[in-house]
Amino acid sequence: MFARLLAIVCLLCVSTSSGRAASLPRVETTLAVHLQANAAFSPEIRNQMKMELDSILEPAAIRIFWLDAQESRDFRSMRVELKGSCGVPNHADGHAVLGAIPASALASTSVYKDSILPSSWVNCDTLNRLLLSSIALQPKWIRDYAYGRAMARVLAHEIYHILAQTQVHTSTGVAKESVSAADLVSSRFVFNSEAIIGLRSHNRVLLGAAKN
Ligand SMILES: [Zn+2]
Repeated sequence: MFARLLAIVCLLCVSTSSGRAASLPRVETTLAVHLQANAAFSPEIRNQMKMELDSILEPAAIRIFWLDAQESRDFRSMRVELKGSCGVPNHADGHAVLGAIPASALASTSVYKDSILPSSWVNCDTLNRLLLSSIALQPKWIRDYAYGRAMARVLAHEIYHILAQTQVHTSTGVAKESVSAADLVSSRFVFNSEAIIGLRSHNRVLLGAAKN
């Protein structure tokens, strides 16, 4: 367990330093997100989720703007509901999910005919059970860090469906069909080039439409 703890701590260091060193590309699209969560949603998890999501979407030139409650802005927007209690308590036990599971078991996005609607939900109970064996025995700051990062990756998957307007998955990366706990807590799990191209292409369509 100590080895695993040490590994996660070291991964934190690599992730933090590389993120700060990266140069920021030009922001082309802003996506406003209404996040609906219960009062128990940890600020530490929330902050980590936001930072990781910014990092994942940066190569696609997409910036997230977080909205409170019913606040509305003149941005393209989506709504996300966090269902259940999001977080893994210390020494929690329960029925852990082992191996890879369909991303659709963790989160889903509404579809109407051929359109992907900007309304998603995350099933935190399933996410808790998937991450249970990886983080339940870790200190709180590591559990919060890992959980927030995992949530960001799950949410990025749904954002891909919405912005690229596709139900098709990629073979690797955040937009693939099934994910494991290892994917969600690893030091690096991002969109592959195919997904980035899909997101960037859609950005150009949006920008072109806005100019007309
Ligand atoms: Zn999917």
